[in-house]
Amino acid sequence: MDYSTNFGSLTFNKKAMKNYMQKNTYKKMLKILEGENAMDSKTANEVAEAMKTWAIENECTHYCHWFQPLTGSTAEKHDSFYDPDNNENLITNFSGKLLVRGEPDASSFPSGGIRDTYEARGYTAWDTSSPAFINRNETGATLCIPTAFVSWTGEALDKKTPLLRSINAVNIQAMRMLKIFGNDKGVKKTITTLGCEQEFFLIDESFVEEREDLLLCGTTLIGKEAPKGHQLDDHYFGTMKERVLAYYHDVEYQLLDLGVPFKTRHNEVAPAQFELAPTFENANVATDHQMITMHVLKKTAKDHGFCCLLHEKPFARINGSGKHNNWSISTDTGLNLLDPTEKTHENIQFLTFLCSIIQAVDKHADLLRASIASAGNDLRLGGNEAPPAIISIFLGEMLTDILEQIEKGKVSSTKKGGIMNLGSTTIAEISRHSGDRNRTSPFAFTGNKFEFRAPGSACSIAWPNTVLNTIIAESIDEIATKIELEMKSLNLEKAVYKVLKEVITKHKKVCFDGDGYSQNWEKEAIGRGLPNLKTCADALPCLKSKKALDVFEKYDVLTNVELKARVEILEEQYVTNKEIEARTLISMMSTQIIPAAEVYQFELAKNLNTVSSALASKNKTKIQQAKLNNLTNIIEESLDLVQRLIQQEKKHLSPSDIKNSIIPLMDKIRSCSDELEGIIPDDLWPIPKYSEILFLF
Ligand code: ADP
Ligand code: MG
Repeated sequence: MDYSTNFGSLTFNKKAMKNYMQKNTYKKMLKILEGENAMDSKTANEVAEAMKTWAIENECTHYCHWFQPLTGSTAEKHDSFYDPDNNENLITNFSGKLLVRGEPDASSFPSGGIRDTYEARGYTAWDTSSPAFINRNETGATLCIPTAFVSWTGEALDKKTPLLRSINAVNIQAMRMLKIFGNDKGVKKTITTLGCEQEFFLIDESFVEEREDLLLCGTTLIGKEAPKGHQLDDHYFGTMKERVLAYYHDVEYQLLDLGVPFKTRHNEVAPAQFELAPTFENANVATDHQMITMHVLKKTAKDHGFCCLLHEKPFARINGSGKHNNWSISTDTGLNLLDPTEKTHENIQFLTFLCSIIQAVDKHADLLRASIASAGNDLRLGGNEAPPAIISIFLGEMLTDILEQIEKGKVSSTKKGGIMNLGSTTIAEISRHSGDRNRTSPFAFTGNKFEFRAPGSACSIAWPNTVLNTIIAESIDEIATKIELEMKSLNLEKAVYKVLKEVITKHKKVCFDGDGYSQNWEKEAIGRGLPNLKTCADALPCLKSKKALDVFEKYDVLTNVELKARVEILEEQYVTNKEIEARTLISMMSTQIIPAAEVYQFELAKNLNTVSSALASKNKTKIQQAKLNNLTNIIEESLDLVQRLIQQEKKHLSPSDIKNSIIPLMDKIRSCSDELEGIIPDDLWPIPKYSEILFLF
């Protein structure tokens, strides 16, 4: 496979447009892509014709509007390109109207109360900025057209619409800031850039068939830890197994065709855990590509006899999976606005953007936390492997030093990393970064971008970025206004340093370079007044606060109605996910685990009776009696807890019921089951164990 020639061969990218469109249509389309012209019906018809020809040549029989409803996954409704004519022949039919607008029935998608079930009409609208692509399988191919999804009344019912609005909000404010610095010449727009590192587990598919929890919930609800985990660090960056590499190659070839610029692959920390990272792109396309990547990872796993687990915490007590969100802003001329450059202390434009981000994250730490809240991610945040639920920023030594200089009022130097000589002439001298990295920080500056490390592996990255963009747009706006005000009496440099000094003094409490995993940090964060919202039940209500409603509305990202609907859906999803888990646990305990324990209990009792009467003494089997006793106690406790969970689960549950009664009960049941797993003979244990699932493939 030649990587260089196939890239994007299954996308209607500029290359395909040029080949299939008339010259003037292509020129018009380029202007539309640049945001300089709007789409008109004539151009839409011409583009539709070209797209249809290209798609049919590539074996497509159907097309679909591909969208991202609030379920968090993608949706598509396929229509054939063909219609019969009067002579009973099939002819192709695909107009600009069909390309631009679709009309899926919106009634069965979550709307958070915006729409009643009988109010069914919803529209999909073509997003010209994200290339259409072909989803091909063994028996055919479908043209997928990325679209936004809105209700008949105009409210956004998807994840793409507010993301696009938030990107626009950042652009407006960033352009304004560039103008203040006199650096907007020749710049038409700014672009938020995004690169998401995807972590996941691969397990043999056969285990999924044998475990109801993996099958229905994508995670294990019970399971005693294996004698070996990742203590030896022998998996992280280890040599990749043949079977895994074959899977990766297959995934990569497909991503290549779909124009997804994958870059990095490696074994992750936990056994059976892996990562795939792309090259960053503009945030809208990167988000679509992230959804495609998750789809390809899952689908291809099946072809290789694997199951790809995207859940944040498939196995208790070993590392979970995240989706590190690398984020920056650049100009359309290619300048990264978060590049500190050599003399950072003199780069006041960079420092202004940096401080805008610090202010945004401090002011809206609760919203950022809420933006990544999900049932699965709750299990990961604060575990000893993921950033804690406390949102803080890592800046590194060089930037921390400059911010201190600004605060003191005298800015004179930038710390340098220098050169490392490793003491052998055969090893090349290497340059050292001016600051170390920090894996424990949820929001870390990593050289020329921020890495938001808290999003969970299964999430759509659209929502966290919508929140991030919105709060940063607000912050740039506020700081720009202050600078403009100060510039009435001061020159630019003095005005900037004055404003930044205030921002730093007020918001430096969110900056923390130490160990985010340590217990001390939790205490210190409370002292600093930083929120520590541990679960969805704690975090999601923040999105209903006046502060949240105001910021989303002010920057035209979400109306109050749209935001409230979203929170309702998030809460419902949290409750529903947990209810499904509770029911699955009840089923496994009642039909597999407890019955297996009872079989062993009976065997032990029978054995004990026989042995005691053969020896004509009960004294010699004291320990065995204690063992039977212990087993009986755990069975009794399990039966009692499962009964209680059944009773609770029948109720109409709120997020706080889940937190306060369902999860504690499930945890206790899990402890009983994991204890039983350590007692019951292997041949009686009814489901695959962690050691088999994680190490056998
Ligand atoms: P790490 O060492 O943190 O694991 P990786 O190399 O795995 O980093 O991933 C870094 C990610 O950051 C990649 O997806 C990369 O494309 C992305 N990235 C790099 N520069 C930028 C940028 N300016 N904006 C957004 N993302 C970026
Ligand atoms: Mg990485």
